[in-house]
Amino acid sequence: MKYRVVVDPDLCIGAASCVTVDPAHFALNEENKAVVLDPDVQDEARPYERTMELSEDQKDTLILAAQSCPTLAIFIYDPEGKQIFPE
Ligand code: SF4
Repeated sequence: MKYRVVVDPDLCIGAASCVTVDPAHFALNEENKAVVLDPDVQDEARPYERTMELSEDQKDTLILAAQSCPTLAIFIYDPEGKQIFPE
């Protein structure tokens, strides 16, 4: 199932809890903003948004990471485009 994951860089304060919870999918860029990683894609892009294939376990971890964000800067959309976090 493909999910869209979006970081709002205006909300991100670089607290890095998302990186701690889910280092496979988040990293900080040089501006101390979270970017979205896809471990299945070997690219140099460091985007604030990606649509990617996630297993149920991966999706659950990603939601935990989003929940850990103190400013709720991470948005997750299901394959139908419905926002599933924040609810
Ligand atoms: S937890 Fe939130 S504020 Fe912290 S780096 Fe991740 S997206 Fe940014």
